[in-house]
Amino acid sequence: MQKTRVLIVGSGPAGLAAALYTARAQLKPVVIAGMQLGGQAAITHEIENYPGFPGGISGPELVERMKDQAEGFGAEFIYDVVESVDFTQGTPFTVKTAGETYLADSVLITIGADPRKLKVNGEIEGIGRGVSYCGTCDGFFFRGKEVVVVGGGDSAIEEGVFLTRFATKITVIHRRDTLRAGVQLQKRAFDNPKMNFIWDTAVEEVLFNEDGIVNSVRLKNLKTEEESIYPTQGIFVFIGHDPNSTFFKDQVALNDNGYIITDERYRTNVDGVFAAGEIQDEIWRQVATSVGQGTGASMSAIHWLDAHEESLQPLDDANLVSE
Ligand SMILES: Cc1cc2nc3c(=O)[nH]c(=O)nc-3n(C[C@H](O)[C@H](O)[C@H](O)COP(=O)(O)OP(=O)(O)OC[C@H]3O[C@@H](n4cnc5c(N)ncnc54)[C@H](O)[C@@H]3O)c2cc1C
Repeated sequence: MQKTRVLIVGSGPAGLAAALYTARAQLKPVVIAGMQLGGQAAITHEIENYPGFPGGISGPELVERMKDQAEGFGAEFIYDVVESVDFTQGTPFTVKTAGETYLADSVLITIGADPRKLKVNGEIEGIGRGVSYCGTCDGFFFRGKEVVVVGGGDSAIEEGVFLTRFATKITVIHRRDTLRAGVQLQKRAFDNPKMNFIWDTAVEEVLFNEDGIVNSVRLKNLKTEEESIYPTQGIFVFIGHDPNSTFFKDQVALNDNGYIITDERYRTNVDGVFAAGEIQDEIWRQVATSVGQGTGASMSAIHWLDAHEESLQPLDDANLVSE
């Protein structure tokens, strides 16, 4: 069993920022990194919209730098996956991986959310080669190109309209014959001459040219079952996100979509437990916003620990002890 003042669950941009701040506050945070050190940012080929890198930076390099920075101040990274938590007894909170139990005076949850996949052939291979889940992030790479947007909800249509700044033609491919997006948003989309719509249709496969770059999609009309090949240089998939909150369900308050509810200081409904990044923000979903939220949450945790110092069990000098 290990004890720590601060335990961070997740090592995406939010978790890495939280690790840096709590480490610089000499709290020696323990970070349970999960399956993917760096989270979604680590699978991002090129990040051009993170401040400080005028020429852009690759996702893996950015997260490696963030990790090194936090480690340099004393953060400890554990390459394991949290399987359960118990916040019901108050502090210290219990966090379990398959082989270890951690007792933590405060917990920062930064486990993110995953963009929902189409689950068709070529989709995963196409990431960074024409398939994207973020218009704000990748729209710039599609200047002067023709792209398709998959989905019919608010985010699909909002991102589709956003992409008209870059792409010459945006074709929305939707399984139904009406959009779910809000009426005003629909009007903006229908009024925009760059926007086109293919109804009652699903993407069945992502296809590539001989250089391995996306050049078309195979479509199926769900009413007629007719199949066709539709040429495109980019595929933006906006069919929702799944927050990784399953094992927090009965531990902290979640909203109807499964995201952790926090106040403006990233406090959950459990005193001493904080959440940051995409696990609590279903709107902005950026590296920069996640870093900012991780920073805010860690500062709240630092203040909370200061305020509760006298009531917390002492740790040894290393601030992390094995029992
Ligand atoms: C393909 C792609 C391209 C993108 N491009 C850009 C871009 O150019 N610019 C931009 O600003 N944003 C971009 N984004 C969005 C950006 O990457 C995310 O907004 C950001 O990574 C969210 O950070 P986060 O820390 O909240 O969560 P995540 O990055 O999702 O990290 C979650 C972390 O939690 C860990 N975890 C999950 N479950 C567990 C568990 N049970 N136990 C322990 N750990 C766990 C994971 O291993 C991971 O480390 C992109 C996203 C994708 C998918």
